[in-house]
Amino acid sequence: MKSVHDRIAAAVDRLFEEEVQFLETLVRFKSLRNEETAAQDFIATGLRERGYAVDRLRTDAALIGKHPAFSPATVDYAESWNVVGRKAGSGGGRSLAFNSHVDVVPAGSDRRWTVPPFEPARDGDWLYGRGAGDMKAGLVASIFALDAIAAAGLSLRGDVQVQSVVEEEITGNGAATLFAAGFTADAVVSPEPTDEQLVRANAGVIKFRLETRGRPAHPREPESGQSAIDLMIRLIGHLRTLERKWTDEREGKRWFGDLANPVALTIGTINGGDWIASIPSDCVAEGRIGFYPGEDPQVRAAEVEAYLRHIQTEDRTLSGEGLVRLTWVGVMHAGYELAEDGEAEKTLRAAHAATHAGTALPSYVMACYLDAAVFSVHGNIPSLVYGPIAENIHGIDERVSLSSLKRVTQTLALFAADWCGLEEA
Ligand SMILES: [Zn+2]
Repeated sequence: MKSVHDRIAAAVDRLFEEEVQFLETLVRFKSLRNEETAAQDFIATGLRERGYAVDRLRTDAALIGKHPAFSPATVDYAESWNVVGRKAGSGGGRSLAFNSHVDVVPAGSDRRWTVPPFEPARDGDWLYGRGAGDMKAGLVASIFALDAIAAAGLSLRGDVQVQSVVEEEITGNGAATLFAAGFTADAVVSPEPTDEQLVRANAGVIKFRLETRGRPAHPREPESGQSAIDLMIRLIGHLRTLERKWTDEREGKRWFGDLANPVALTIGTINGGDWIASIPSDCVAEGRIGFYPGEDPQVRAAEVEAYLRHIQTEDRTLSGEGLVRLTWVGVMHAGYELAEDGEAEKTLRAAHAATHAGTALPSYVMACYLDAAVFSVHGNIPSLVYGPIAENIHGIDERVSLSSLKRVTQTLALFAADWCGLEEA
């Protein structure tokens, strides 16, 4: 008699080529912010074909500022859709939600990619493509993990959800929409690219836009102008001081004490000026800064605002009325710590060991925003972030390891089987 674990593993194996092709199709959808609908339609169709009840929920702009899971946004959510597939279990088991995001970040520079970023290409163990690792592979792994259970002739006792959300890369408002609408479970698993490790804790994050207003002038009389770009460079320099101050607070902080830069002030975009030979009138930069779990993002945001007021009194170059403006434009969310040795973690450890020749499940700290934080912070739901090996996420030539994808699919299937409970179909 084959054990159920062997049957599930064999089914993952059997379905794997189909799984990779499904992932390749999904990578071809250029699901940048506010362009996710086609990818979401593909996922919704795939889930319906598999017998899921499918809900489509528009990202809920009405709850921004009213529900603590929501963050400020700068776009219209008219075409911002989240998809959930639900399947009822036979009863008596724990429920499980797989949560993944389908949105991807821009490719950087297409020309610097070995292959075009939205034309997935296999090379040995690697599948290349923007979003292949972060995190379309994880989304696909969750779908095929549940497929494998069915293909093995088994069914789950607990209810399952496959959640495919948008907005993870900027606000988290897709996951927040599902959470606020009651799409929760006894455990959440988010197969982000974690190199087959469990995320023990993540950072809180706030995202901002800075604007500087200069005085445009002709270069023949530079003293009559003031460069908005120079003002921005100066402002960013000051913010590095704030970053160092927040970084120094890591001393004695659990999980974060050893990180080189848990705060990671990142200026992600900068745009300024409109003519090569004019002193620029305006400059806009956007970025993010992190902080420690358990801290209130609103308090940290107020700290940034107070710091800007402070430097505007200290640095006379920046002190003129209206020279500097700050707005909050993206995620404003607390980090979380996963309590050690919870039931969900024990179940994942057993599943990981079964697919890794008994090796222990490593855990680590990810100092960035994760949608798992929504379920953990606001729902106190054990939220496990665990997914495949990927390289160059948010970079050039992003790629995911296919052998890792297979192991993770198997691990997620074993996790679902043990967490939700199994019976013969
Ligand atoms: Zn991600």
